[in-house]
Formats: sequence, structure tokens, C-alpha cells
Amino acid sequence: MPSDMEALRGKVEQINHQLLDLLSRRAELVGQIQTIKTREGIPTFLPEREHRMLVELVAGNPGPFSDDTIRKLFKEIFRASVELMESQSRRTLKISRAHRAADLLVRVGGQVIGADPVLIAGPCSVESEQQMEAVARFLAAQGVRFLRGGAFKPRSSPYSFQGLGERGLLILEEVARRRGLLTVTEVMDTRTVELVSQHADVLQIGSRNMYNYDLLREVGRCRRPVLLKRGLSATVDELLWSAEYIVSEGNENVIFCERGIRTYERQTRNTLDISAVPILRQKSFLPVIVDVSHAAGRKDILAPLGRAALAAGANGLMVEVHPCPHLARSDSEQQLDLEEMARFMAEVGMSASPSLAQSVRAMG
Ligand code: PEP
Ligand code: MN
Repeated sequence: MPSDMEALRGKVEQINHQLLDLLSRRAELVGQIQTIKTREGIPTFLPEREHRMLVELVAGNPGPFSDDTIRKLFKEIFRASVELMESQSRRTLKISRAHRAADLLVRVGGQVIGADPVLIAGPCSVESEQQMEAVARFLAAQGVRFLRGGAFKPRSSPYSFQGLGERGLLILEEVARRRGLLTVTEVMDTRTVELVSQHADVLQIGSRNMYNYDLLREVGRCRRPVLLKRGLSATVDELLWSAEYIVSEGNENVIFCERGIRTYERQTRNTLDISAVPILRQKSFLPVIVDVSHAAGRKDILAPLGRAALAAGANGLMVEVHPCPHLARSDSEQQLDLEEMARFMAEVGMSASPSLAQSVRAMG
């Protein structure tokens, strides 16, 4: 290689290192700015500022790069800085593992969510006292401690069954009390948070409401634990932010619920995102429950999905059970009957007593 070329290359490499050093110093300053932004509640990305800096840089461009190239190069530097600031602010979330190494144990009426796997089971909707009593009696005998059932139902069609409302809430409460069970039910509206929290042990925020920030803040102000379902097309980061809304209002007792996300796959109603389980557990100390029923939308693969969820570190499973699924007023295709539920529990290794499961099967 000619010696003059070698010398020039040496200079280029030197400049590379100077640029690297400058970029690192710039990133350090950006980090300090982000600390102030977080403290003052200023957004991370300020488009007007970015625009002004680009105009100034282009105005001072001495060449030989075109203005367009300068814009592209600096936009890339700005993008990397915003990413850095966002990852820094994620680390400072109240729900972050960085603040608390130990798992949060959510205590509900003598039960704990966040330690040994729990089962939350019950019908999609509360339909009648008789229906709820049949499920509750069976679940209590099986050792299940959490009874679910929707009284306020978020339905895709406004003409579908919308739930029994307050009457459903009272049925759920009464039946659960009789059987010594704890209740999980959805709250859809800021105006009913007070009512639902008077009658239920755990408030569920449904998928369709994961982005309803007023509702998240409202349940953040009440004392009941909150089961926060992942939005239909929400990223894990968005789910984390939604939990932060609740916790930032003072209610630390949030439980994540992975319930499948919308993908192009049509074999299942949604696609169960198993990877979300270890990622949520890694990023946050809050417990994670997996709802296999809404993920699959069918009954025949619930046990393998449940086993996969537990193997991935889930703190429990949610499953829909109905005494007569074919008569159910919502989600009839995915609800297990009592015998199928006993089998499911045995197959995921969560039977209180395998012999009890066998006897229920024999009864059927
Ligand atoms: C439910 O659990 O009753 C429900 C409606 O689920 P999701 O919000 O996950 O669709
Ligand atoms: Mn349902």
C-alpha cells in the first residue's frame, strides 16, 4: 500500500475514534437531560427541538455532504438518543425489577398470587344463580380458590349479551361467599369502579380497556388488586406502561394477564405469546397469569398451553368453565364443562387431589 494512503487511513481511523468519543459524550449529556425530563414530567421526544437542530445543522453544512445526507446522519443520531432516553425511563418505572428484586406477592383474602401457581376459573359471563352455584360448588370441591365471571361484558357487537350488570355482581358475590371463594370480575367503566370494588375481590381490566388510561388511574386509586389483561394488539412495553398507570396512583397490587394477541394465524382465536411470560417476569416484579381460554378460543389445546405457560414461569392460569357450555350466552365454544375442567386440572398438574378429579369424572 502506498505510504501516503496509509497515512490518510490512519487519520480517518483517528477521526472515527474522535467521533465515537463525541457520540459517547453526547449520550451522557442526553442521559442527564432525561433525568431532568422524568423529574419535571417533560416528554422524551420533542419534535420541534429536533426540527430546529436539523435546520441549524443544515444551515452550517460546509460540504462536501449534501444537506439531505447531513439530515439523515443526524436523524439517526437523534433516533439513537431517544431510544437511549426511553430505555433509561423504562428502568425507572415503579413496576421495574430494577427497584425490587423479589417477586411481589399479591394477597387476596388469605390467598397469595405470585408464589405457587393459582387457578382462576369460572364462566365467561355470570348468567344465573343456578349456573354460578353449579360452577362454584364444583370448583370449591376441586380446591380452586378464585371464581371468575363477567357481570359487565365487553362484547364486539352492541347487540350481543352485555352481562347482568349489578345483578350479576351480586350473584357472583353471594355464590362465592357461600363456597368460600374469592372473586375476579371485569370493570369496564370509571363510573362503576366503586360499585365493583364493593362486591369483588379482584378487579379485571379487560383487553379492550388496556389503553383506557382514565380507567387505569381510577382502579389505581382503589384498594382492590387488579388483573390487567394485555390488549388485543398491545406490545409488552405498552402492557408495562398500563400497569405503571395503576401503580403510579398508589395501587401496587397489579397482576399481568397474557391472553393471546391478534396475529394472522386463524387456528386459534388469538396467539398465546409465551415469550411475554418470562419477559414480563424479567422486567417487572408483578405476577403473571395466563388466560388459556381467550388465547386459544377452543378447548382441545388448553392443557398443553397451560403446561407451557407454567413452564415459562406463569404464576397461574385462568380458564373458562361452564356447567353447560353449549348453553352459554358468551364464548360457548371455548368454555370447558365440569368434567373437562377436572381433566384439565389433572393434565396441568393442578388438581387438589387426582382421586377427586377421577371421582368427578366417574360422576359425570
Ligand atoms: C374475559 O376475560 O371475560 C374477557 C372478555 O377477556 P379479554 O378481555 O381478554 O377478551
Ligand atoms: Mn370470555
